[in-house]
Amino acid sequence: MELHPSPRASSLAGNAVLRGWNLARGLQNRAGFRLGSESRGARRRCCSLGFGGPVRCSSETEKNPQLAAARVIYGVAPAMGHNQESHPESHFRVPAIVTALEKMELTPKVRSDDIVELPTVKPASVDDLLHVHTRAYVSGLEKAMDKASEKGIIFIEGSGPTYATATTFQESLVAAGVGMALVDSVVDASRITQNPPTAFALIRPPGHHAIPKGPMGFCVFGNIAIAARYAQRVHGLKRVFIIDFDVHHGNGTNDAFYDDPDIFFLSTHQDGSYPGTGKIDEIGVANGEGTTLNLPLPGGSGDVAMRTVFDEVIAPCAQRFKPDIILVSAGYDAHVLDPLASLQFTTGTYYALASNIKQLAKELCGGRCVFFLEGGYNLQSLSYSVADSFRAFLGEPSLASKFDDPAILYEEPLAKVKQAIQKAKHLHSL
Ligand SMILES: [Zn+2]
Repeated sequence: MELHPSPRASSLAGNAVLRGWNLARGLQNRAGFRLGSESRGARRRCCSLGFGGPVRCSSETEKNPQLAAARVIYGVAPAMGHNQESHPESHFRVPAIVTALEKMELTPKVRSDDIVELPTVKPASVDDLLHVHTRAYVSGLEKAMDKASEKGIIFIEGSGPTYATATTFQESLVAAGVGMALVDSVVDASRITQNPPTAFALIRPPGHHAIPKGPMGFCVFGNIAIAARYAQRVHGLKRVFIIDFDVHHGNGTNDAFYDDPDIFFLSTHQDGSYPGTGKIDEIGVANGEGTTLNLPLPGGSGDVAMRTVFDEVIAPCAQRFKPDIILVSAGYDAHVLDPLASLQFTTGTYYALASNIKQLAKELCGGRCVFFLEGGYNLQSLSYSVADSFRAFLGEPSLASKFDDPAILYEEPLAKVKQAIQKAKHLHSL
């Protein structure tokens, strides 16, 4: 990993946004991090007995019975200090989502029986990261924070480009910590109800491009991969099914589990888009052969394509794999309005995906399901689509028609989509 300074320092405007956001949210830590009091080490000792056995530890649900009755739990880590002026992966993204949720009355303030916000979050520890990332990368990034403090912002060479500021390391630990805490919450709730809340980690920086030895493509740590390993070792959930519907291939997650038969990684992405990996014949190696499924979709693929992919590929794959938990790399950059790609998902497509995945988790793994925010760079389509995903988790009707404009859509390349689906089904004996 090589680091060099940016010609531009982080903006004063960004600092003002950071202060305003923290004041509005009532956060206390001086760097804007939301810190919890529970030791994750203590939780590890307490809950490492394997899932399915008797409940022997004090759980989140015992402390908060409301959690088991809720339909949605979410955690927020906006990484306000990790920002580069005019960069699409900006510190405006998570606040835009939270503001939309507030406007649409999808927050605990108005829906306290149904929606819970994770109250406190302990950042991931370096040990948590080392189950996915190399020590050289983690300590190298930590050391680079001094340079970032001095220069304001640095770029990490060969990473796609990924930037870092003085707060990137700590804020990335918080993002990963939110994902792990949400795994705790849904697992705890699933011990006492067959309908645990569906969880959503509204976090950044995103994670699915981060490879074991470094950051990549705006991603710093592999949040979903770290949570997958955490679910296995802390909760004894052996089999993890990861669905990645971001418009880009989740190459970092792919690489972390390419030879692992217990973690199924299924990625849909736009054919030929960044970073160019995720060809249909990349299916895993050694013991992991067959537990990676890559399905590149032709440019222009939209709602019909994705609904067909769900029915013909995602659902049968998950049913055959029999997971203990489903984790989702939820990227909203496949939306037709997103500036970084050329698929034609709509807000309605994201509603259908959220609803179908929630149902799949209910059928297959006691409802245990956590969504992780990845991409999504048009703030409006991003926030409306996340809000409609919340409605899907709540079991309420979609309001996508208030946002989606069918007049901007063009014909999907369904013949090519069908060919790709048939090839994936053939390669994976579906
Ligand atoms: Zn993406």
